[in-house]
Amino acid sequence: MKKIIVAGGGIAGLTTGIYARLAGYEAEIYEKNPVVGGECMGWNRNGYHIDNCIHWLTGTKPDTSLYNVWKTVGAIDENTKYGDITEFYTCELNGQTATLWHDLEKTRKELIQISPEDEEEINKFIEHVEYAKQCLIPSEKPMEMMGIKDYIDMGKEMADMPKVMKEYGKINLSQLADRFKNPLIKMLMSEYMPKEYVAYSFLVSYATMASGNGNVPLGGSLAMSLRMRDKFVSLGGKVFTGKAVEEIIIENGTATGIKLEDGSIHKADYIIPTVDFNVLFNKLVDKKYMPAELKDAYADEKAYPVTSGFQAAFTVKGSMPIRGTVLFPCDEFRMGNKTYDRLSYKVYDYDELFKKDGKTVIQAHIVQDHEDYYFWKGLSAEEYKTKKAEYAEMMKEQLEKRFPELKGNLELLDVWTPLTYERYCGAYHGAYMSFVTTPGRKSFKTKGTVKGIKNMYLAGQWTMAPGGLPVAAVSGKFAVQRILKSEHKDIKVD
Ligand SMILES: Cc1cc2nc3c(=O)[nH]c(=O)nc-3n(C[C@H](O)[C@H](O)[C@H](O)COP(=O)(O)OP(=O)(O)OC[C@H]3O[C@@H](n4cnc5c(N)ncnc54)[C@H](O)[C@@H]3O)c2cc1C
Repeated sequence: MKKIIVAGGGIAGLTTGIYARLAGYEAEIYEKNPVVGGECMGWNRNGYHIDNCIHWLTGTKPDTSLYNVWKTVGAIDENTKYGDITEFYTCELNGQTATLWHDLEKTRKELIQISPEDEEEINKFIEHVEYAKQCLIPSEKPMEMMGIKDYIDMGKEMADMPKVMKEYGKINLSQLADRFKNPLIKMLMSEYMPKEYVAYSFLVSYATMASGNGNVPLGGSLAMSLRMRDKFVSLGGKVFTGKAVEEIIIENGTATGIKLEDGSIHKADYIIPTVDFNVLFNKLVDKKYMPAELKDAYADEKAYPVTSGFQAAFTVKGSMPIRGTVLFPCDEFRMGNKTYDRLSYKVYDYDELFKKDGKTVIQAHIVQDHEDYYFWKGLSAEEYKTKKAEYAEMMKEQLEKRFPELKGNLELLDVWTPLTYERYCGAYHGAYMSFVTTPGRKSFKTKGTVKGIKNMYLAGQWTMAPGGLPVAAVSGKFAVQRILKSEHKDIKVD
């Protein structure tokens, strides 16, 4: 039996391993951390569970090809229970709130009530969110293996998506906000994601949740990763945790194995790295193999933004006055080199996992980018510790100021920064998704192979913007299909 070695045990690595076993290969996963999951993670502090991934899992709607992938890898099935979440997010300004509800009619009514003068633009927005519900991630096979019939079927399934791209594919979120007159609606349109994001990605994200194709499985993100690990092991796969790959061995232009940091060497017929490309092309293989499109993206940080976060988890006694994910005004504060007057929090009250002794976990969040990463990176170890604590305290004060009833009821559990993602997953500038697509730029995408290295196939969220769990999972399946194709075998594996 031919053998596949997978470097990295995140969602992409686990999916790769499972499809490798289903396709009849011996499969081993090497993960540097003590537990699999990578960015799809959760951890405990003071007896509370902090979840740090799934806000929505695209592909929870049965009868879609992505659902079949999630089912095949043991992430979800027909018995999976989901959080009872009714809104995408809520924006607050001058004491008034606007919410993007999963129920689009409810949203339409609420927004028109807030701003009758924006009725036309609101109707257009809702109409296009409805169209965007058709946006599905092709998960049957890699694009290069698709035939005319596949494209025709895809075109039929997503017949209205071109309308979304035409209307919202060439503007960013700031420009989307400019189309509205009311300040609260402007903010609602441009605040959930960084303003330079192309507008259609916001509509697609909202539509995914609104259509029921982006539910949140109960039990948390880590539990989902562990279900996938168990599936892999049950199929006869081997997982090695606490085993960092130091090098992918290339002999005469062919990947033949890996060398671990402990010095041991492991041989295989195929290597599938699923690690962050920053780790892959700056550490595991020589830099000369870095694809040109990746080099270009690393060189132009303005054109290729990334998203990370400064986050703090708290427990709150009782319940939060506004549920869900909320962005609210706060006193102006400086963090790093930027000034902020808004803060966001998310209440984790949709799952008993995050509740104990009358308290519920909440998280406060500030989006971070390249510039913020450099700020954190420039601090000494002592300064880093101090700043983290200082900003977490500031978040607590701002929450208490906005909601005085929280005074004395908030307790800090943990704080983390872009450097945490870098340390834990090797994440490029702390990014937990791939490159952000900005208007006028082609969405970032790599081929599944690397010029000059035979028998190495790429997987992981960095293979395609915007990354995320679906890209991670599907890329693992595709990598195995590319191997099957190279051996002239049937690529159908389920
Ligand atoms: C706060 C937050 C919220 C998110 N929300 C969502 C969401 O709602 N929906 C969504 O779809 N996505 C979300 N994501 C993104 C999602 O978590 C990632 O896209 C996905 O988990 C990436 O999976 P991956 O396997 O490609 O990469 P990773 O998770 O980075 O996996 C790579 C693995 O390789 C390991 N590794 C690195 N170097 C080595 C080495 N030298 N040797 C061995 N192993 C190594 C790492 O430890 C890691 O386990 C969120 C992420 C975060 C952090």
